[in-house]
Amino acid sequence: MPLKVHPDIASLSPYVPGKPIEELQRELGLARVIKLASNENPLGPSPKALAALSDGSSTLHRYPDGGAFRLREALADRWKVTLDQVILGNGSDEILGLLARTFLAPGDEAIMADQTFVIYKMEVTAAHGTSVIVPLKQWRHDLPAMADAITARTRLLFLCNPNNPTGTMVSADEVEQLLARVPSHVVVVLDEAYFEYVRSRQFPDSMAYVKQGRNVIVLRTFSKIYGLAGLRIGYGVTTAEIANFLNRLRPPFNANSLAQRAALAALGDDEHVARSRAVNEAGMGQVVKGLTDLGFAPIPSEANFVYVDIRRDGRKVFDAMLREGIIIRHIEGSMVRVTIGLEEENMEFLAVFKRVIHSQ
Ligand SMILES: *Cc1c(COP(=O)(O)O)cnc(C)c1O
Repeated sequence: MPLKVHPDIASLSPYVPGKPIEELQRELGLARVIKLASNENPLGPSPKALAALSDGSSTLHRYPDGGAFRLREALADRWKVTLDQVILGNGSDEILGLLARTFLAPGDEAIMADQTFVIYKMEVTAAHGTSVIVPLKQWRHDLPAMADAITARTRLLFLCNPNNPTGTMVSADEVEQLLARVPSHVVVVLDEAYFEYVRSRQFPDSMAYVKQGRNVIVLRTFSKIYGLAGLRIGYGVTTAEIANFLNRLRPPFNANSLAQRAALAALGDDEHVARSRAVNEAGMGQVVKGLTDLGFAPIPSEANFVYVDIRRDGRKVFDAMLREGIIIRHIEGSMVRVTIGLEEENMEFLAVFKRVIHSQ
């Protein structure tokens, strides 16, 4: 008997993550591998988080605090909201899945950009919803067109800000004009995974929209600037009403005990965050200049990665770089995304990239 799989699920392709360093080392026998593929913090985790992890290991035989009281309290305190407005996820990825399953019945619509975080479409399809795709305009979310796409069947609108993979942002003014046009049956998902890297003063204060009682959820993560991607923990801040619905589906121990502890410590490590921002800013300057000197025009980025048209087969360049131990991300066609690394890593990337493109 052939397996009976729901056609929506059968239509999905497995998510292809950035290649792990050890795998590439094994495959190619390389001593040195530089991973600039998954927007991880090149400085590593906060030292305070590491200390909290070793303190927490002796109680691993206990279940985690399912309500994650201390971490949620710290987040509520940080963002000046109430405890019942904070929800944790096994990475903010998990919260995207909870949103899709909570709000989408078959055929309901979710609006998203054409070039954005691929998990949105995957979760919408998995929840049997319909993705309504609105093309970016000059590499940025086209918010007026997204508002035009709203129908009576729209339930979710995904806004990735800064956007992955382009690194571009939309301003407070633009988001406010969008929100003014969003009816109350639509939840706006403000995915701000790179929030802590943003330099622009035009960036929205999204927590204010939550406090105004709008139907929005702000997603943040400990995977990027806090350097805890391997632990899987992220959070959402929203209205108590929306959090209450999401909590009905949330697995009770989705945020594990070590992740809760490490995240709490990392949240209080302002020095690590400041250093990470500074290293990223300097590295961004270095990589943008290097690419520009080679004749490319990287798209100005507010995040910890840069998106660039390399005007050649991106897949081939990706493969050639891989053979030299540099992992970048091929997105599509001639577009690649490169995470900003440490100074030496950026230098090595630029040197290898220069060699590779001259042979393509
Ligand atoms: C990295 C990233 C996330 C966060 O993923 P986690 O599941 O928290 O590791 C969410 N959204 C975007 C756009 C990202 O790039």
